[in-house]
Amino acid sequence: MFDVIIENGRIVDGTGNTWFYADIGISNGKIEKIGQLAGFSASERINAKGLVVSPGFIDMHCHVEAPIFLNPREDGRICQGITTEIVGNCGLSVAPAVPEKIDLLKIQTREYIEFIKSFTEQVNIMTKSFFVVVPYSPAILQTNKSLSAVSGFLNKSEKSAKTKKTENFEEDRTQLLERTDVVIQGLTRIGVRAVPLGTEELVELYYKLFNPGDTDKPINISEITGS
Ligand SMILES: [Zn+2]
Repeated sequence: MFDVIIENGRIVDGTGNTWFYADIGISNGKIEKIGQLAGFSASERINAKGLVVSPGFIDMHCHVEAPIFLNPREDGRICQGITTEIVGNCGLSVAPAVPEKIDLLKIQTREYIEFIKSFTEQVNIMTKSFFVVVPYSPAILQTNKSLSAVSGFLNKSEKSAKTKKTENFEEDRTQLLERTDVVIQGLTRIGVRAVPLGTEELVELYYKLFNPGDTDKPINISEITGS
C-alpha cells in the first residue's frame, strides 16, 4: 500500500541512464519502489502516460529572492520542473542579505527602477494596444413602441417602419456614443489610455484583420491622436 503511485510515465532518473517506463510508489513523501506496480494499491494513482517523470531541475543561477515573497508558490518555476534555485551567484542577494552589501543593494534597486522607467519611456516595448468593442442594441422600453418596432421588423415593406428606422438611428447613435464614453472613462480610471477609432482607423483595422500578411506595422494609436 502506497500513498501515491505515479504510473505509466517515462522515467528519466537523472543518473545519465536512458529513460525507461516504470511506475513509482511513494509513501511518507519518499520513493519506496520503482517498477511495475499495477498490482499494488495506493491512496492516489497519477497516470503519467505520455509524460516524463524526473527529479526536479536545479536552476544554478537565478535572482528569485524578492519575487518569492510575492508568489511563494513559484508556479512559473514549478511548471518548468524547477524545484531548487540557487541565488546570490552575482555576489549580491536580497536574501540572505549581507549587512555590508545592503547600501549597495539599495543603490542598485533604485538604479534598476530608474532604468526600467527610462526604458519604458524611450522604447515602446511595454505598450500594448488592444481594441474594445462596445456592443449596442436599442432598448425596447415601452409596450406600444415595442409593438410597432416588432411589426415594423416583421413587415419590412411598411413605409412607417423605414421612417422610424431613420429617426431612431440618430437616437441610437447618441446612446452608443454615451455608452462608449462610459467605457472610456472606466478605462481611464484604471490608467489605460482609450481612443475611439474613427472611420479611417476602423477601415485600416479591419483591412489588417483580414490581411494578416500586412500586419507587420501595428496601428499606432499616437499617430491617430497626433500625440
Ligand atoms: Zn546573477
